[in-house]
Amino acid sequence: MTTGTRVLVLNAGSSSVKYQLIDMLDGAKLASGLVERIGEEGGRLLHLPLTGEPRETLRRFDGHDVALEAVAEELAKDLMGLDSPELAAIGHRVVHGGLRFTRPTLVTDAVLGEIRRLIPVAPLHNPANITGIEVARRLRPDLPQVAVFDTAFHATLPEHAARYAIDRAVADEHRVRRYGFHGTSHQYVSRATARLLGRDPAELNVIVLHLGNGASASAVAGGVCVETSMGLTPLEGLVMGTRSGDADPGLVFHLHRVGGMSVDQIDDLLNRRSGLLGLCGDNDMREVVRRAQEGEEDAKLAFDSYVHRIRRYLGGYYAVLGRVDAVAFTAGVGENSAEVRAAVCANLEELGISVDPELNAVRSRDARTVSPSYSRVAVAVVPTDEELEIARQTFALVHEV
Ligand code: ADP
Repeated sequence: MTTGTRVLVLNAGSSSVKYQLIDMLDGAKLASGLVERIGEEGGRLLHLPLTGEPRETLRRFDGHDVALEAVAEELAKDLMGLDSPELAAIGHRVVHGGLRFTRPTLVTDAVLGEIRRLIPVAPLHNPANITGIEVARRLRPDLPQVAVFDTAFHATLPEHAARYAIDRAVADEHRVRRYGFHGTSHQYVSRATARLLGRDPAELNVIVLHLGNGASASAVAGGVCVETSMGLTPLEGLVMGTRSGDADPGLVFHLHRVGGMSVDQIDDLLNRRSGLLGLCGDNDMREVVRRAQEGEEDAKLAFDSYVHRIRRYLGGYYAVLGRVDAVAFTAGVGENSAEVRAAVCANLEELGISVDPELNAVRSRDARTVSPSYSRVAVAVVPTDEELEIARQTFALVHEV
């Protein structure tokens, strides 16, 4: 067993790698950074040590291996290189764990093979995650590497929530079901909400609204996820920055048969040219709010559609849970936009949900409640920290074995 107390968290995307080095004794972030535009011109590594100036490297990074080696060099300059004895493990974010991976898992050749077999259900994400793991294993073959899956927290969805109402044989053959995403964030935020309220997570029912560029809602009953808004892919559910969220599946046939669009064009439309961007030309909520406040009709429509969809889910999840103790807002929009929080919670006093305008207007990086003290349901703003959650789960697993 390792005596190290630090965990390096890696989040490898198709052309980027984000990383954080965390000391598990106190949760301190010793260093963080990202490499962008891997395999393209204009590559950039930004390294942010805990103390000292940020360091930027502008050059081409041919592949994830070159990028990770450069990250290792930056960490070594701070005397925290991959060979340091304090490093206990590397934790990897893996987007899709399918039905097989419902817990953090120590990476072996067999595990890597199984993550590879999930590529058909996560073609955009899992290949990059796998590359990250392979490169890290090559750099430190002796170090425990742990995969933490975005889908894992949603593995507890009951079958009637996880299944689409389609022919079961077809669904099973193609592994079609609702997996859900952002699980690490929903897990972290639901627990942090219980901590904020001084309650045991096992007795708290929480609706978590993760509103970032991608957005999803989840219903968590006593620490167990029972519903979530993303499905087979991260396209289902809420209106997002550039994704449509829920839409009649029939619109795909319509756009293909009547609109003459190919499947790839429709994929691009729904994933990259829809949501706030499609409705008003901006996908940043700050711009949408500013333009709506200036009276621009399309920005107002985008804002109202975004809020309306969240409220539909909020009401639905209230019914699923039966009793709601807290609604927690998180991620870029949820943590920062008082306008969105106020609009989502407007006129819901009958459900015990309301927001105190003064508390809601406070800007802070700390978890806090923004509902009046008499509220039956606490409305909370809880900054998410997926990296810390991945580090915790990684560290816990390494100390179990
Ligand atoms: P990602 O899904 O990429 O991790 P984040 O959780 O960082 O995204 O959220 C990014 C989004 O948060 C931005 O696109 C922007 O719309 C929104 N955002 C950030 N700051 C603010 C703010 N002050 N007010 C409103 N929205 C904000």
